[in-house]
Amino acid sequence: MEWADGFTFVPFTHIGLVRMSRCIECGSVELRPAVVSLEGTVRGEIYIVEMKGLVCLNDGYKTIEGSDMPEFARLLADKYRSAQRLLTSEEIRSRRKRLNMSQQQFAHYLGVGVASVKRWEMGKIQDRRCDDEIRRKTDAKAHIADTRIGRFDLLPGTDGSM
Ligand SMILES: [Zn+2]
Repeated sequence: MEWADGFTFVPFTHIGLVRMSRCIECGSVELRPAVVSLEGTVRGEIYIVEMKGLVCLNDGYKTIEGSDMPEFARLLADKYRSAQRLLTSEEIRSRRKRLNMSQQQFAHYLGVGVASVKRWEMGKIQDRRCDDEIRRKTDAKAHIADTRIGRFDLLPGTDGSM
């Protein structure tokens, strides 16, 4: 395994098919799976995330596997979004699903790039203006109005907004 771009914080490393798990505090390899509470910071605010992770049997140090880092980041961002009354990644996804749209169709519907939709659902925090627009275009009334005219207009830039 190479560390070409320098040593960064990686709790556990994967070498071939053998997983090398080691406590970064004491070096112990005796770790057991558990639900752990981990603290993270988003824009200066501290939030606690609970998710599956590992606990060191020697000193109780709690961490998660490197492969679960994106999930941690997503859950952390969702804590921030809930606190700020922004839609969470799960809420954005479920609103999209309720409209029965793919990420691509949803992006066109909102007038944004598909990369934005993918990033929001993976945890990137949408700005307030986009949040308002998502709510406006996915609330139940909007859905009913669109259903009444019998189709969704999926062409980009034809609805005069955003
Ligand atoms: Zn330890």
